[in-house]
Amino acid sequence: MLEEIVRREYGVGLSQCSDEQVYHALLKLVMERAAAKEKKTGDPANGKKKLYYISAEFLIGKLLSNNLINLGIYETVAGELLSAGKNLSDFEEREPEPSLGNGGLGRLAACFLDSIATLGLPGDGVGLNYHYGLFCQKFKKNKQREVPNPWMEEMDWRIRSDRQFRVSFGGFDVYAVMYDILVTGYDNGTNRLHLFDLDSVEESIVQKGIDFDKKDIQKNLTLFLYPDDSDEEGRLLRVYQQYFMVSCGAQLILAEARERGSNLHDLADYVAIQINDTHPSMVIPELIRLLMAEGIAWEEATEIVTKCCAYTNHTILAEALEKWPVSFLEKVAPSIVPIIRRLDEDVNKKFGDDQVAIIDKNKLVHMAHMDMHYSHSVNGVAYLHTEILKNTELHDFYQLYPEKFNNKTNGITFRRWLLHCNRELAGFLTDTIGDGYKTNADDLEKLLAYKDDDRILNRLLEIKQNNKHRLAVYLKETQGIELDEDSIFDIQVKRLHEYKRQQLNALYAIHKYKEIKRGKRPVRPITMIFGAKAAPAYTIAKDIIHLILCLQELIRNDPDVSPYLSVVMVENYNVTLAEKLIPACEISEQISLASKEASGTGNMKFMLNGAVTLGTEDGANVEIHELVGDENIYVFGDDSDTVIERYKRKDYRSKDYYDWNESLREAVNFIISQKMLKIGSRKHLLNLYNELICKDWFMTFPDFNAYVETKERAYREYENRRAWAQKMIVNIGKAGFFSSDRTIRQYNEDIWHL
Ligand SMILES: *Cc1c(COP(=O)(O)O)cnc(C)c1O
Repeated sequence: MLEEIVRREYGVGLSQCSDEQVYHALLKLVMERAAAKEKKTGDPANGKKKLYYISAEFLIGKLLSNNLINLGIYETVAGELLSAGKNLSDFEEREPEPSLGNGGLGRLAACFLDSIATLGLPGDGVGLNYHYGLFCQKFKKNKQREVPNPWMEEMDWRIRSDRQFRVSFGGFDVYAVMYDILVTGYDNGTNRLHLFDLDSVEESIVQKGIDFDKKDIQKNLTLFLYPDDSDEEGRLLRVYQQYFMVSCGAQLILAEARERGSNLHDLADYVAIQINDTHPSMVIPELIRLLMAEGIAWEEATEIVTKCCAYTNHTILAEALEKWPVSFLEKVAPSIVPIIRRLDEDVNKKFGDDQVAIIDKNKLVHMAHMDMHYSHSVNGVAYLHTEILKNTELHDFYQLYPEKFNNKTNGITFRRWLLHCNRELAGFLTDTIGDGYKTNADDLEKLLAYKDDDRILNRLLEIKQNNKHRLAVYLKETQGIELDEDSIFDIQVKRLHEYKRQQLNALYAIHKYKEIKRGKRPVRPITMIFGAKAAPAYTIAKDIIHLILCLQELIRNDPDVSPYLSVVMVENYNVTLAEKLIPACEISEQISLASKEASGTGNMKFMLNGAVTLGTEDGANVEIHELVGDENIYVFGDDSDTVIERYKRKDYRSKDYYDWNESLREAVNFIISQKMLKIGSRKHLLNLYNELICKDWFMTFPDFNAYVETKERAYREYENRRAWAQKMIVNIGKAGFFSSDRTIRQYNEDIWHL
């Protein structure tokens, strides 16, 4: 296969090619094969309706091996390279990761594209071509530093399309270009991810770190994902990005619908639009505007758009529900402001209730409110999350539109999160239960029949050990980190946010350190692995990173403790690292404050790879718990009702817990102990200490004792290796529900009807 391409392109054989030539040949091979599997517009097999999944983030990760797997040519290509004296894994390493997302929300969008293509559904992604994506994280003096993260190359996965779009901002127009990335389905068709950009964007305006002139929109529009929005200019830039994305998206949608035969009055028969969180919400007024420009009257235009659009809510954190000042929109997108005002008037006439208004008294536009009034579907991303939306957070809207609300529990693509990242486990599963599970995830249940089969149980433990070894080698080579492969691998990797409570895990580390200092050693060494990026302007999140890095240094250099406990924070946690960490994990930390983690998808990846969850009753953990039963998960802490009630009463005082709970107090005090101040910065450690004692908005303290006890129980039970392997089997066997193929089938049946 490759041989043919290099002969054609370079006129030499594979073994004579430079590595760069081989890499380019791999890109060409994949793109040619993928393109050949595209269904063309008007293909009757496609039907006429098409989905557009609009999202400010697509955390796609590296694409080479996933595409090879999905195209069914991984083994062949790997073999071909080997005979030419080359290694596929070298090229996998060489590929830069496109980090076009922050975390779960963006990764979900990427998993969904994989499943949509795998199910053979017509559906494309719509987003932005960020030149640097999410920043690259560096650690210096135990603190996070942000530097740009380039991923685009002379030749990469993007195909520049001929389509051009004009977008009118207040005072100036820009001309957009569109890049397409081919999205391969597993043993099925190919779809596209459309990424919009401006030719005028200039990477050279980036100064030290990730600072740049935020005013010059022509030059900076798509430089970074979510520019630092701690100041007004940054927030304004975000609105420019959003309007740019949806204006291009809306124009593309209408042009393609017409090409498929729509007369626009029947647009809803041709188009389904999924609005991923509120970032693309302006697509609603933009589409109405474009339809009216085509002569369609107001009532009909709003009705058409409502029928096309569906909204996914990802959070109940108030600060994450976007509200833009009308003045921002007037500056950025003046042509949709009259539309938004009119939508608001219609809502006021109909309901006369400030609580559900689109524009509030402070002249803020509530994007989620617009979504709920003018979409036909509103979904949460896990059972518990949707219930909280209906009963608490969005209760007023639920009363107006009960029929719109529905749940779609998140999922992950098993192609990336099993077949690609854990080839040994995938091979073992195929040998044991056949390969039906690759397209029918529920087949994993067949594994449960082997729950008492010692050969199978031992093999599972062996695979886990091999993955721990692979991780140890990788981290040693790439980050100079040494891991004790015989220790328990206890992993918490996810964005750094107070509600995800890395601080609770860090307090445990201190508690354990103190215990070991006093002579109480664990039966088996423990390795606590963290990985997390903090938003550049999120002070407390950065202070928590500082705490963890200081603990890492302190413990590493303490010979009394280091043989029994190590704290490791990996640098620049991203999809590539996730793929190495997750297969090696034994205890999956999912310890959010109950009610605050909408779903989580990391929890699903770990479960599928045979880790046992230690978590709170939150998000999809609730559903994991229900599937695996009490025996095969470790849950602890206050439930969501208790937490919601406590917030309502407004009487939480962390200081009370601190005064009353001696072992908690000892751990918290240690943050500003002499030992820590010698390593870390007084300002940051003191800031964190005060935050915890005076505020602790995400209620770490009430769950501290329960967390310590439950974690100790997990470590104890780990020592019964046979029983532990049985827990692994149940977790893997029950993970089928969390395939994004299931999620996408449900979106299609209930919302899109493709
Ligand atoms: C899956 C994933 C996430 C989401 O993890 P959660 O634990 O659900 O927050 C974030 N970042 C990366 C790189 C991921 O792969």
